[in-house]
Amino acid sequence: MSVETQKETLGFQTEVKQLLHLMIHSLYSNKEIFLRELISNASDAVDKLRFEALSKPDLLEGGAELKIRVSFDKDAKTVTLEDNGIGMSREDAITHLGTIAKSGTADFMKNLSGDQKKDSHLIGQFGVGFYSAFIVADKVEVFSRRAGLPASEGVHWSSKGEGDFEIATVDKADRGTRIVLHLKSAEDEFADGYRLRNIIKKYSDHIALPIELPKEQAAAEGEAAPELEWETVNRASALWTRPRTEVKDEEYQEFYKHIAHDFENPLSWSHNKVEGKLEYSSLLYVPARAPFDLYQREAPRGLKLYVQRVFVMDQAESFLPLYLRFIKGVVDSNDLSLNVSREILQKDPIIDSMKSALTKRVLDMLEKLAKNEPDQYKGFWKNFGQVMKEGPAEDFANKEKIAGLLRFASTHEDGGEQVVALTEYLARAKEGQDKIYYLTGETYAQVKNSPHLEVFRKKGIEVLLLTDRIDEWLMSYLSDFDGKGFVDVARGDLDLGKLDSEEDKKAQEEVAKDKEGLIERLKVALGDAVSEVRVSHRLTDSPAILAIGEQDLGLQMRQILEASGQKVPDSKPIFEFNPAHPLIAKLDAEQSEERFGDLSHILFDQAALAAGDSLKDPAAYVRRLNKLLVELSV
Ligand code: ADP
Repeated sequence: MSVETQKETLGFQTEVKQLLHLMIHSLYSNKEIFLRELISNASDAVDKLRFEALSKPDLLEGGAELKIRVSFDKDAKTVTLEDNGIGMSREDAITHLGTIAKSGTADFMKNLSGDQKKDSHLIGQFGVGFYSAFIVADKVEVFSRRAGLPASEGVHWSSKGEGDFEIATVDKADRGTRIVLHLKSAEDEFADGYRLRNIIKKYSDHIALPIELPKEQAAAEGEAAPELEWETVNRASALWTRPRTEVKDEEYQEFYKHIAHDFENPLSWSHNKVEGKLEYSSLLYVPARAPFDLYQREAPRGLKLYVQRVFVMDQAESFLPLYLRFIKGVVDSNDLSLNVSREILQKDPIIDSMKSALTKRVLDMLEKLAKNEPDQYKGFWKNFGQVMKEGPAEDFANKEKIAGLLRFASTHEDGGEQVVALTEYLARAKEGQDKIYYLTGETYAQVKNSPHLEVFRKKGIEVLLLTDRIDEWLMSYLSDFDGKGFVDVARGDLDLGKLDSEEDKKAQEEVAKDKEGLIERLKVALGDAVSEVRVSHRLTDSPAILAIGEQDLGLQMRQILEASGQKVPDSKPIFEFNPAHPLIAKLDAEQSEERFGDLSHILFDQAALAAGDSLKDPAAYVRRLNKLLVELSV
């Protein structure tokens, strides 16, 4: 063993300590994945070397076939992994094996519940990578040297997985990384060729470079042990280059876990080879669960980019639109140059056409999932529905396709779950209904009971109930679906078109004429608070309602803008009253103008409350109401 210099002991970042602790306690039922994680890292390290060597061939240091070797020592109870990839410098080892670089990690840790089963799912999503070594080892040693550095600048990192790690500078002749796991005494079953081979076949068969194990060979009696011979145990070809028919589901699933750093199987995938003007292969996956950083702007996203089988970059974000940022996968192009950069990707017209083709692939895959596996799609929607709702605004060309993938809560489904597709809505629409009706609001409870729905309930017309923050904004980008326009039932003068019979319409006109006097009195009483007063056709049970002007901002958008400190254009609602309601009859008959004024303001405020809005002058409302209550009790 060579001399160690500059020996130091350093503490792990707090998040690493938490992760180590949790991992050891929640992943014990799936211990063998440590090997998959370490092989996955080794394979990434080789990919990086191959790529860097394109411009700096010296890094290959005279070659040697790129590979990963796994060996073991039954007596010493160790498992050793060795790769000849890019390696780590001393500084690399300190940062990469002592901290977690992902932004939002601290927040993520706070979300862990202490319930091991739940946490193991969360950790799976988060990806534990290197640290999974401590599931089976009570001491881990890493010997590494960054390609291009002299042999004297190797690094020896070692830790017991508790609070700290030791680091020293050592000689290392070969570039790359060797990891020695000192197995916990209960885990020595892993120091076994048969076991290791099975784990590698199970999880890492898809790794594109050879993974070698020592060949089992018994020393002949009386002879010295023969020199170690190695054999490749995995298939060692890039999975996406193989024909679809020859790749098993399990292989697709394991490959996904490798590239996505996910523990769970994906929901679906789409593997394609494109030939012709452009030549590329793509393998795209829909994860089963949203990552914890789905809504963090700076969170990494995008596909793994290969050019002619050579890894070029992780998180190439130019191949898919932002609203599909949760898609994981690989794209391997024959047309791009190997020294393509992120900047070039952003401008290259080749990328544009690949992007639109890949986007279609994803949308097709989701359509298929929705059609063939509706239950799985429900899960998908729960995890990614909010992000999909960004689609129509971002991706005009695919608006109709995306709209078909949206799911909504509705008056025709109990419980407020977002399960209704627009096609389904239209399929069960009323005869003569040529519109898609919806109502936006803050909570399901509020919209479900909104007076705006009264006439729809009476006529049995379905209304979509939209309560996500993004919904009103989304609807401003959707004008129609399958030729049917969207109508916000709280907006403008509700025209039910053919759903109202001729008699209905005639009756409405007559009532309006009949109530002209009342309308005028209300206009005076409510004054500036309203833009218009009219007879309502939407109400059956409530006395009055506030409608939003056709061009005005809805409540949700107004609240979002206000919360972000922006100035919101002033708009006044339309006051609509229900002529058949006894309170309105009473109002109409009221002789005292003072009482008439109080009562109309109370009706106005109540209508605002029912719409989920807050009152401009709550004290005045209470005063007026109390005044009436007192008179009532006299
Ligand atoms: P992740 O792989 O998700 O980044 P890990 O904890 O598995 O997280 O690894 C942290 C980092 O350590 C890697 O990103 C890489 O930079 C470095 N690393 C791990 N294993 C190796 C290896 N075999 N060779 C070179 N670098 C490695």
